[in-house]
Amino acid sequence: MNDFTYVDYEVADAVATITLARSEKANAQNERMLDEVDHRFRTAEYDDEVKVIVLRGEGKHFSAGHDLGGSPDSDSAGLQEEDGSWQLHKIYRWEARKYLGYSWHWRNIPKPTIGAIQGKAIAGAFNLIFPLDLLVVADDVEFSDPVVLMAVGGVEYHGHTWEFGARRAKDILFTQRTMGAEEAHQIGLAREVVPRDQLWERTHQIAAQIATNNAFGLAQAKRAVNQTLDTQGYYAALQSVFDVHSTGHGNAISVGGYPILMRLDEMKENINREP
Ligand code: ZN
Repeated sequence: MNDFTYVDYEVADAVATITLARSEKANAQNERMLDEVDHRFRTAEYDDEVKVIVLRGEGKHFSAGHDLGGSPDSDSAGLQEEDGSWQLHKIYRWEARKYLGYSWHWRNIPKPTIGAIQGKAIAGAFNLIFPLDLLVVADDVEFSDPVVLMAVGGVEYHGHTWEFGARRAKDILFTQRTMGAEEAHQIGLAREVVPRDQLWERTHQIAAQIATNNAFGLAQAKRAVNQTLDTQGYYAALQSVFDVHSTGHGNAISVGGYPILMRLDEMKENINREP
C-alpha cells in the first residue's frame, strides 16, 4: 500500500504517530481507513527505530465510529448482494477480519501504544481504543456505544466488561449514555485528562518518556499484562462475544432485511435523548 487517503503517519524521536485524517466525517471509519490504520501499525511494529506508537484523530472528534452513511466509501459497501439483500456469513467473515481481527492484532503489537482521544468516541471507535495500552483524554471527550439502538449488544471488540466493570458496562450499553473525561479517569480507562489544546503535546511527552526505555523490557512488560488477561479468559471472551454481536446482525437481517435495525438518522435523534 503506497497511497494513504485517510491516515497520516510520521516517526520522530522513536515515536510513530498514526493520525486518522478524515475530520470532515468526524473520522468515521470505512474499510479503506481501517486497512490504512492496520498497515501503519504494521509499519511501526516492524520499524526498529520505533519504540512507542501513538494513535490520534484530527479535528474535533476522535472517531464517530463506523461510517454507516450508505455511500460507496462507507464501511461495508461491498457486502450487499446485487438484489439489495444481506447475508450474515459475509458480514461475519468481514467483521472477523476488519474489526475483531485488526483490533486483536493492534492489541498484541509488542510495543506500547497510546491513544490521544478527544470529542466523540462512538461505538466503532472502541475497536480502535480498547486495543491500546494507555489513553490520554481531552476534557471534552465523550465515550459511548449506543448500538443497542440498532439491536446489537455492543461493538465487535467487547472490552467493555473488562474496562468498565460489569455493572457500568451494562449501564452504558442499556442507556446509551456517554462517559466523560472525569469518569473515564476515575475508572482507570484514561491515564489522565488534559485540556483539548494540550492533548497531542502531552501524549507525545508521555510517549517520549516511555521511549527512553529498553524496547525488549517494554515488550515484555506489555506481554506480562496481556498474558495475565488472556489467562483470565480475555481472548476467549472476546471471541465468544463477537459471536453474540453477530447474532444481532443476523436478527436484524431476518426482521428488517438490513444488518442493523435502526438507520443512522434515527439513531442520531435517539443519541441525544436524556436517560
Ligand atoms: Zn458488527
